[in-house]
Amino acid sequence: MISTDLSASFWAAAAPAPPPTDRLEGGKDVDVAIVGGGFSGLSTALHLAESGVACAVVEAGEIGSGASGRNNGQVIPTMSRADPSAMVAKFGQERGQRFAGLVRDSAQTVFDLVRRHDIDCAAEQSGWIQPAHTPGRVAKVAERRFKEWQALGAPVALLDRQQTASLLGSDAYCGAWLNRSGGHINPLAFARGLARAATGKGAAVFTRSPARSIERLPDGGWQVRTPAGALRAGRVVIATNAYSDDLWPGLKREVVPVFSFQMATQPLSDNLRKSLLPGRQAMSDTRGDLHFCRYTHDHRLVTGAPLLWRGDLDRRLRAHVAARLQRLFPQLGTITFDHLWCGYVGMTADYFPRLHELAPGIATWIGCNGRGVALATAMGPELARWAAGHARLDELALPVTPLQPIPAHALARRLARFMLWMYRRRDAREV
Ligand SMILES: Cc1cc2nc3c(=O)[nH]c(=O)nc-3n(C[C@H](O)[C@H](O)[C@H](O)COP(=O)(O)OP(=O)(O)OC[C@H]3O[C@@H](n4cnc5c(N)ncnc54)[C@H](O)[C@@H]3O)c2cc1C
Repeated sequence: MISTDLSASFWAAAAPAPPPTDRLEGGKDVDVAIVGGGFSGLSTALHLAESGVACAVVEAGEIGSGASGRNNGQVIPTMSRADPSAMVAKFGQERGQRFAGLVRDSAQTVFDLVRRHDIDCAAEQSGWIQPAHTPGRVAKVAERRFKEWQALGAPVALLDRQQTASLLGSDAYCGAWLNRSGGHINPLAFARGLARAATGKGAAVFTRSPARSIERLPDGGWQVRTPAGALRAGRVVIATNAYSDDLWPGLKREVVPVFSFQMATQPLSDNLRKSLLPGRQAMSDTRGDLHFCRYTHDHRLVTGAPLLWRGDLDRRLRAHVAARLQRLFPQLGTITFDHLWCGYVGMTADYFPRLHELAPGIATWIGCNGRGVALATAMGPELARWAAGHARLDELALPVTPLQPIPAHALARRLARFMLWMYRRRDAREV
């Protein structure tokens, strides 16, 4: 069995301790109540507190115990499928370009926050590289994405086969594009650092405090109840993403939570590191069944994969991921994984994130589609502008849409893992 406990992750073993937090007990009045203590909720709280707005976060588990503390830590300033032209096609010229601008700057937002608040999270702004596994993907993905992001002023480069091979230390790819503003962090340490910075500026963060209900108050405000307390607030931000529960009807049915595994190798020798990703970029390739990895501060590779079948999971997963890492980097030899953990990635049907006004004074965003480290952090200042009353919700970078729960959600959840089979077929067909 693979532990679903956050403490199984390499990030938990390496992160500084979280700031001290309590359960919410009794009533508390704030301007803004935030549900969810991941990047979205904590970045919103930090930006609100910085502008002097009284706010409190209630988190069901511990800081970062949702996707924020479990992910691969790649800080990627793109969406997984939606390129700038698709954003414009979906949202219109003006809104599409504004959203693309938010995404373009999102990695810089993360690294700027790390510097401004001196967050100890092993941050490396070494760039993010997307290598293409077939010649078709060079044209369809690498060249097109490079051109679109270059036109928007992103710090990007296109790499031919030879440049890609020397950057990666692998002959497995036909070309790549690189975004220099990307990189990687210890994501749990970053979440804890955001919480520390937010509480330092006056925000309250309560853990082990699941929001059980949200009720309208006679004065037009809202009451967020937890088992032992309640927050009364003028505005509420729900930042529960793929870990959404039944707090708001229909919300959790907007995303399909896809179970994904992460694992960390033993530290690589100095010699190996000279040939394998010597520039320490984060990398995720063009496959649907994504191949990805990045270094930790102590020179492990963190990678992972989903699996179609769950039988004999631990052994099969280790063998499967080791074999595919060896195919990319034969110089690795025998690979041993020290840590293995898992989490839910929230996928929407069209791979676009959503912003909703659930009721007057209650906003949420959902659906980062595996690209939430940078995006969720960058949504914080956006949501804070609305929650502080400095902008209308429809003035934010992500257009407001009605809640659209996926029909037959339970079935979609069950079928989600078979998408992997389809992706593998498509990946293989192009080769
Ligand atoms: C295995 C994995 C690998 C990934 N790799 C990457 C990557 O390398 N790069 C990248 O950009 N993205 C990656 N992602 C996606 C990224 O982690 C997420 O998009 C991001 O962390 C979302 O942050 P969030 O704050 O919106 O949500 P979360 O971090 O999931 O936070 C939501 C929080 O809400 C809490 N909650 C839920 N219900 C309630 C309630 N009723 N009351 C109180 N609290 C509640 C949960 O406990 C949770 O802590 C990955 C995700 C996973 C799972």
